[in-house]
Formats: sequence, structure tokens, C-alpha cells
Amino acid sequence: MIDVKRLKCPLCSQKLVICDSQINCVACEFEYFHNVAAAAVGFIECDDKLLVLTRAHEPQRGKLHLPGGFVSVGETLEQALAREIKEESNLEVLSQAYLFSAPNTYDYGGITYNVVDSYFSVVVKSLASLKLNNESLNYLWQEKGSIEPKSVAFVSVKNALGQMGYLK
Ligand SMILES: [Zn+2]
Repeated sequence: MIDVKRLKCPLCSQKLVICDSQINCVACEFEYFHNVAAAAVGFIECDDKLLVLTRAHEPQRGKLHLPGGFVSVGETLEQALAREIKEESNLEVLSQAYLFSAPNTYDYGGITYNVVDSYFSVVVKSLASLKLNNESLNYLWQEKGSIEPKSVAFVSVKNALGQMGYLK
């Protein structure tokens, strides 16, 4: 883990003080807002089954996840989700309907990112094009009440799966 207490001000090299998402220099006017990042996540359902992916990389390698990811600069939530679904599963999004959102954290490279996940119900053009990229080991079609909570990668995704009735 990176010890954020050891970080120095990029302007004057003095100590930085971190409080919630705000980082301030003790000596000069430098301030930085490490704001919450946005992510969009999709429920793709077919014949009462949900498309679930197995993560190929850390964090949470081998655990279950849903298609989606971080919003890039200049994107809407919907654009980000359609792009991520295309990248991860080669599926073309036809329509999306907002469901709900939930806070999440994401540990990467020694830094904990505070995230807000937005969940959408997604309709895709055709499942025939389904092909995973290297971010996932495999995919599963899960019925409601069938997913073991411990097998889910992130707390917010676990909660969302519970809210949608997919957990055991
Ligand atoms: Zn400074």
C-alpha cells in the first residue's frame, strides 16, 4: 500500500493533510479533490437468467462480476456502459434503463478509489456475438436465487445482485 501520509505537496514539497476526499498542503494553497469516481454496471437478462462474468485480473480475480466499468472523461453513464459491455463481451447494447446506484470502493495500485456504481437493466441486440475479452475467465447464466454471496467480487455488486433477487 502507498502511505498517503508520506506524499509531498507537488508545489512546495511540504506535508499534505488528507481529510475524506480532500487533500491540502499544510504550507501553501495547494488543494486537490480526490472525488468519487463513476462506474456503470449492467444487468443483461435472457430467459430469466442473468449474464455473470468471472474476473480474470486482480482485484478479486476468480470472483463473479457484472459487465461494466469506470466512466471515462466526457462520457455519459450510458455511453460508458455500452462501451464497456462491447469491450468485455462483444455485445451491442440496444437499450438501457436505470435501476439504482450504490457506493463502492476499488483498490488498485495501492490506492483505494471511492466509487459510485450505477446499475442499469440492459437489452442487447443479439447474444450470438457474445465473446469475452481477457478481463474475464468465463461467463455464466445464473437464475434468480442461485448465486453464492461469497463468490461475488465487490460488496456493491453483491448488494445489487441481492436487490435483484439473484443471491442464494
Ligand atoms: Zn504546498
